[in-house]
Amino acid sequence: MENVAEEDGIFELETPASEILEEMTYDRSEMMNCVDQQVQTNIEKAQAKQKKNFAKSKNKGVKVFQLSVGDLVLRKVMKNISRKDGKLDALWTGPYRPAKTKLMMLSAVVKKKRKKRPIGPLPVTPALKYKDFPKLLPVIESGEWLKDEHNDNAQAFLAKNFPHIGSLQATWVFISEECQSVGTPKEDFVQIVNVCGNHWITLSNIGCPKDTVTLYDSLYNNLDSGSKAKLHKQIADMLMPTSKHLTIQWADMQKQTGTCDCGLFAIAAATSQCYGILPQDCYWEQEGMRDHLCMCFQQGDLALFPQLAVVRKHERHHRVENTEVFCHCRQPYNPGVFMVACDRSQDWFHRGCERVPKRINKNTLFVCKNCK
Ligand SMILES: [Zn+2]
Ligand SMILES: [Zn+2]
Repeated sequence: MENVAEEDGIFELETPASEILEEMTYDRSEMMNCVDQQVQTNIEKAQAKQKKNFAKSKNKGVKVFQLSVGDLVLRKVMKNISRKDGKLDALWTGPYRPAKTKLMMLSAVVKKKRKKRPIGPLPVTPALKYKDFPKLLPVIESGEWLKDEHNDNAQAFLAKNFPHIGSLQATWVFISEECQSVGTPKEDFVQIVNVCGNHWITLSNIGCPKDTVTLYDSLYNNLDSGSKAKLHKQIADMLMPTSKHLTIQWADMQKQTGTCDCGLFAIAAATSQCYGILPQDCYWEQEGMRDHLCMCFQQGDLALFPQLAVVRKHERHHRVENTEVFCHCRQPYNPGVFMVACDRSQDWFHRGCERVPKRINKNTLFVCKNCK
């Protein structure tokens, strides 16, 4: 600084003139003001950037629509579906009609284009053990309906002890309407599946003729047509029938009392199938099933469910159902998907699966890959 003079190694400070001091103070305060302002702008900039990034990750696939009063709309359930429970809940609720009179902008999530399932068998996605198993116990103990993680945990135990048994796939695989991820087990299989979003059943082809599966439904429910079509599709994906039909045998099994224990009966049926015992022969002690499952989860092993000392008489199957399957994908008929018959084999094929020419009428000769 110019006002500091050096003399014999001692610093001697000279007081600056008052106007210089004033000027300095003014400069400093100006600078501090600028700093404040700069800090504020930087904060705003950073916040705007964060907001933008957040919106970018949150609003993926969101499109804004102009809706008018009285339009019919569906509301997307925006909760995180990747979380463990609630995977089987409905993805959309409604229909609703917007009722506000003001100009409204509602956003709706545009469904992502579904990945098409490749033709032919897919590998299975095994059910995994639930890491934090004590969290599973309260639901079992309280008498509530079992969730996907309970059934997956049970299936993972069975897969560990019975490596020769196929499927035991994660239950989420069966959720999507198109069943894109349902695997085709190489071995005879056991599989717990959810139907209608609120009911657990077990499927198995152990001891069944070719292209046939036994269905263990402890409620003896009649499925609605949509759930039935989906289940047929899943069974077709698991069996990949080589003949023209798939057959479902409805097991004459013990009927559950109440509505909450279907998961326990599904696990009990799967367990006895794995142990080589016909589930139809079993008369389980329903009151003891929850305690037994808790004990098994704690011990890390699934043992046979305790039975009453009663010989159960049964007809093995109380209903047998045949469903025709078509095309290279071996799927049942779906009225929503266009099919064409081959002029030689008379077999039916989907347009997508068999590259059927776009323009086709009664006079077009169509010959499938199998007949070429
Ligand atoms: Zn097809
Ligand atoms: Zn043909």
